[in-house]
Amino acid sequence: MKAWRFHGFSDMRLDDVPEPVCGPGQVLVEPLCIQPSVTEAQLAQGIPTLAYDRIKRRLETEAPLQLFGHEFCARILEIGRGVSRFRPGDRVAARAKLPCGACPLCHSERSDLCRSGPVIGFDLPGCFCERALLPEIALVRVDERISDSEAACLQSLSDSVAAVETAQLRIADTVAIFGQGSMGLECLQIARLSGAGLIITIDIRDEACQISKKLGADHALNGRACDVVATIRDLTGGIGADVVFECAGGSPKQGLAGHTTLLQAIGAARSGGRIVGVSWFGSPVQLDVDHLRERSLRYLFPDISTQAHLQHTVRLVASGRVRLAETITHVLTGIESVPRAFEITASKGAHKAINPAQVMMRG
Ligand SMILES: [Zn+2]
Repeated sequence: MKAWRFHGFSDMRLDDVPEPVCGPGQVLVEPLCIQPSVTEAQLAQGIPTLAYDRIKRRLETEAPLQLFGHEFCARILEIGRGVSRFRPGDRVAARAKLPCGACPLCHSERSDLCRSGPVIGFDLPGCFCERALLPEIALVRVDERISDSEAACLQSLSDSVAAVETAQLRIADTVAIFGQGSMGLECLQIARLSGAGLIITIDIRDEACQISKKLGADHALNGRACDVVATIRDLTGGIGADVVFECAGGSPKQGLAGHTTLLQAIGAARSGGRIVGVSWFGSPVQLDVDHLRERSLRYLFPDISTQAHLQHTVRLVASGRVRLAETITHVLTGIESVPRAFEITASKGAHKAINPAQVMMRG
């Protein structure tokens, strides 16, 4: 069968590889729709971000290597011994980070805290191929009301559900969200469903601001057109937002905000407020911690998404409570177009893309 393999950074090739054989606890799937995550698209080009050292080491010692592909919708072809929750024909999506099943955290039913398990696409081959093996524990069945294209976004949506849960929203909390890419728009919709009061979003792209308004923002500020921190303070009676999500930071080479938006997020939070850091910066960030201390700010990082979070995304999208279709701007066709999807996703700003570019595997 055909699979995209990395022979090094910026060197992906469509190779013939042996057919995978389904083992115990695994299912064999045919990927239907797949998208690179922003992190994967950056790593493919050797840009330092999350997991860069691990991927570099693997490429140096194991290439050619099937990498990436944890954001997908796939159809089950075959189930391995012991698999009980699925049958052939089911459509599935996955969470990426899995518990190890062996450590004290996993044994004490706190496997959501385990960091020792494999990550699909990083430690296990993902879905940029004609057929893939996946562990049953990673998967959720996709409701028939959810399209293949929407289902490929459920992994990212489950991370957004975890991020909003981390914020511990209270009813009527004022929420500000920096960055209206896919995760920013997801956090907006989930926060709205979770009892948020006034919702203020910030982006520097007019098209992102428009989608944001459509999906429920009370105010969608263009960061190029106003003083963001002063405007948020004005809109909140001078005190700032109860909860701020920072979803815009990262390498300016990819059209991201560096750490400017993190500083703005800190400035926009009320004293005692919570800042949830969703972005990855890819390099150290200089921060005046005393400023956080002085204002009793909580700078939090999202928990890993669990099976329960992933199940919840199916409910949210199937019922129409979270809308994903508006965010899907680029859909390509055929396994050959995978490298193009990586290119577009690595510089979404230049391509006016909101969600990563998707590939429908069949024409
Ligand atoms: Zn564990």
